[in-house]
Amino acid sequence: MTECKICQKSSRTISKVLGVCLQCIRGKPDQTLEYTSKAHRNSREAFRLPEEPAKDPDGILCEVCVNECKIPENKFGYCGLRRNIGGKLIGTSNNEGKLSWYYDPLPTNCVADWVCAAGTGVGYPKFAHCKGAEYGYKNLAVFFNSCSFNCFFCQNWHYRQDTLKSQKITVDEFVSIVDERTSCICYFGGDPTPQIQFSINSAREALRKKKERILRICWETNGSMNKEFMNQILDIAIESGGCIKFDLKAWDENLNIALTSVSSKRTLENFEEAGSRIHLRTLPPLIIASTLLIPGYVDLEEIGNLSKFIASVNPEIPYSLLAFYPRFYMSDLPFTTRSFAEKCCTLAKEAGLKNVKIGNVHLLQ
Ligand code: SF4
Ligand code: SF4
Ligand SMILES: [Zn+2]
Repeated sequence: MTECKICQKSSRTISKVLGVCLQCIRGKPDQTLEYTSKAHRNSREAFRLPEEPAKDPDGILCEVCVNECKIPENKFGYCGLRRNIGGKLIGTSNNEGKLSWYYDPLPTNCVADWVCAAGTGVGYPKFAHCKGAEYGYKNLAVFFNSCSFNCFFCQNWHYRQDTLKSQKITVDEFVSIVDERTSCICYFGGDPTPQIQFSINSAREALRKKKERILRICWETNGSMNKEFMNQILDIAIESGGCIKFDLKAWDENLNIALTSVSSKRTLENFEEAGSRIHLRTLPPLIIASTLLIPGYVDLEEIGNLSKFIASVNPEIPYSLLAFYPRFYMSDLPFTTRSFAEKCCTLAKEAGLKNVKIGNVHLLQ
């Protein structure tokens, strides 16, 4: 049981790291921000990552993501990748990525596998090898060791230990990994956002080399990139039969900032913009939404509002509600219950969404 530092309510679903309850985050952000910002700063210091996005008026502006860091000499941007050395931003490049990669046999445990070409065969024969699940082919999973957010519930938090020291791979080296049996590439992480230019270049080069073969390109992201890059990844996904998987963390802006340290405004704007392009390729679905059901924080109000928003963009957009398990800085919270997940699913459908699914069912309690 943790006691909220503002209202003194005690609950098993108040996170120790945040120290404040959902109602106070929503209703008294001016008071809760002090606690939640400090918690984010402390958690980043532990990994030697910049505590906040740099805002030096004389620094160099990076516009790759929503943080829009203004980085002073010899300092890093919030992602811990980009650095101002001698008046130039180094640390990321169009031609070199800091990442790790592995192959997953298809169909794989992908957040979109229940609607995508690899999991269902939808889009056959242009975008899928067969009418059902694509057995015998592989997904190339590309894990970027950096992120533009700082989620306390991060599933892949280990990347923080590798942000600075991870090895580099060039576009040519990357493309040589893509073999005949690779039918999709998924850029994720961390998040692809801080290295979005490398992902775009490497995807374009892989598509140029694959000739007439099926090669879907997908991104799994918090959606916080610059709109121009977002439109470029949409172009590639549309052409290749891939999809953009947007992880929508929360609807309430104060809650999004408490959980991730970053505003959701860019993500929601990008989602709307992506939604306006769905008609350019309807099958397989171009965008997919997901939300993690964090006990005590992502409640029915959040899911109701997110569902209405997604439905307003397009009711056909598939929405995956993901079960939470205790992890990283939120290891003191319980698992998502089955009854709560089912209520969320009903609510999302009542909001008008036609394709809703509970993901990670094995984690439900
Ligand atoms: S990618 Fe985002 S977090 Fe990284 S330096 Fe640029 S604006 Fe900052
Ligand atoms: S990477 Fe894309 S095509 Fe491959 S399994 Fe995931 S969503 Fe489906
Ligand atoms: Zn409270």
